Amino acid sequence: MQEPTNAPDSFSRLPLSPAMLANLEQLGYTRMTPIQAASLPLALAGHDLIAQAKTGSGKTAAFALALLARLDVARQDVQAMVLCPTRELADQVTQEIRRLARAQDNIKILTLCGGSTMRPQIDSLAHGAHIVVGTPGRIGDHLERGSLVLGVLNTLVLDEADRMLDMGFHDDIASIARQCPRQRQTLLFSATYPEGIANLSREFMRSPQEIKLKEVH
Ligand code: ADP
Ligand code: MG
Repeated sequence: MQEPTNAPDSFSRLPLSPAMLANLEQLGYTRMTPIQAASLPLALAGHDLIAQAKTGSGKTAAFALALLARLDVARQDVQAMVLCPTRELADQVTQEIRRLARAQDNIKILTLCGGSTMRPQIDSLAHGAHIVVGTPGRIGDHLERGSLVLGVLNTLVLDEADRMLDMGFHDDIASIARQCPRQRQTLLFSATYPEGIANLSREFMRSPQEIKLKEVH
């Protein structure tokens, strides 16, 4: 069913392509979730964001739609990177981005996590990727050996940042962020807001907008 375009939580309020809006409708995404409604207008406008909302609230689409909107498929370079705490979460994020990317042709997404051999990942990277999703350890390994190049990266996402800090990834994340272009958008998503998150954001985000959704139930 077509949603009224003036509903405050309708995706059609956002500067998204008609193809993307049609894809969202096909996926059954009729309304934005609260975190999507709060973060997507800012993310699509290019702001850095710290967004906090509980698990299952739709945070993946909140960053995926922003990075997909500015992707140039003609360009065979990594333009967006999502750091996740575990392989399982990286796989989930990749799947969700693939579903959301169906409206755009030929988008290449690579998942780069430890526990898999390096060689196939290096070969895939050599063939070109638009988006990489992975764990800080393995992404750091690829940066060190030069198999991953971030020269034109425009969007860096830290997903489940609280868990990444709990797992001791602070130094890896800081090192990776230093190797990203200064001119970029950084989007940090988290289920909780421990002190470490504020410190992390001060280190490498630019005047981030903060969105904290209170539990409503
Ligand atoms: P989080 O990262 O906050 O834990 P996810 O991004 O994994 O949440 O989303 C949870 C589930 O909600 C996924 O199955 C996703 O496909 C679905 N979902 C996300 N946004 C919407 C929406 N606007 N409408 C319907 N389902 C959605
Ligand atoms: Mg998530």
